[in-house]
Amino acid sequence: MLVIMKNDATEEQVQGVVNRIEDLGFRGIPIPGSLRTAICIVGNQGYVEDSQFLSLDGVKECLRVTRPYKLVSRETHPQSTTITIGDITIGGEKPVFMAGPCAVESEKQAITIAGIVKRFGAEVFRGGAYKPRSSPYSFQGLGEEGLKILAKVRQETGLLIITEATDISNIEMVEEYADIIQIGARNMQNYALLRKAGHTRKPVLLKRGLAATIDELLMSAEYILSEGNSRVILCERGIRTFADNTRNTLDISAIPCIIEASHLPVIIDPSHAAGRREYVIPLSRAAIAVGAHGLIIEVHHDPAHAVSDGRQSLYPEGFERLMQEIKEVVHVA
Ligand code: PEP
Ligand code: MN
Repeated sequence: MLVIMKNDATEEQVQGVVNRIEDLGFRGIPIPGSLRTAICIVGNQGYVEDSQFLSLDGVKECLRVTRPYKLVSRETHPQSTTITIGDITIGGEKPVFMAGPCAVESEKQAITIAGIVKRFGAEVFRGGAYKPRSSPYSFQGLGEEGLKILAKVRQETGLLIITEATDISNIEMVEEYADIIQIGARNMQNYALLRKAGHTRKPVLLKRGLAATIDELLMSAEYILSEGNSRVILCERGIRTFADNTRNTLDISAIPCIIEASHLPVIIDPSHAAGRREYVIPLSRAAIAVGAHGLIIEVHHDPAHAVSDGRQSLYPEGFERLMQEIKEVVHVA
């Protein structure tokens, strides 16, 4: 349930409602809005009687939240959330571009690719230092050495850094180095990791699981928000279907569905959806046309020798073309 405060309610009155909610054994999370504050009740399993709040000073009304997730729901927070990091804002009018290799392989590789993606307009450099691989025998990432290389990329290029935390054992280290912490598709329902991400000071990019519904993705985001971190960006990266023409099937409808259900920004990763670089540019155009707040793209200067995901990585000229074509879509959208 949401307790909606009057426009002129004081901070003491908001605190009075939070105290009453806590007396009942639940948590009250104030959500300030441009006109008034709403207080979201979390932790209740069933019906909460609203008359006990309506009699408190400063309370205007109580609204039932019909969605299973509360803090991520647009019912609770009608205004779209924007997340500002350095000079970029995610979730606003202008799409944000994140690009780089699947994995950090060496300092030379990372700096080379960062220079390329920056030149063509990327604002955030991606690259995994901890890699969740389907096979235990595949390259698992450079670990902290990779994070140090990413810090160097930021220092030399000014690009922001997004990199993945794969486990509760490395998320604190990733938090130290990254501007955005990525939680990958395979970890979307790793609840211990989600809770820990909720305690970090950095924005989190949460990718949709390989076989997760939109509601499951939003429930996972709810774990992060419920622990106190409200800077969450969602990411559609393709799901498993019977179709085998692409690595995964990009669910383009996820974008309007998520924007309807949630106030959080949502971006698309066409690289992991397609699995082949030939499809990355058309899927990127579609992503922006359908209203995604940005893209995360794999780019490599030498995909044939990439340690992972070379087949889906754009060549530098492919990324240049993508950015040119996107400008035209943004122009007509
Ligand atoms: C990645 O971004 O390199 C990655 C492993 O993505 P996903 O979790 O979507 O498979
Ligand atoms: Mn990859």
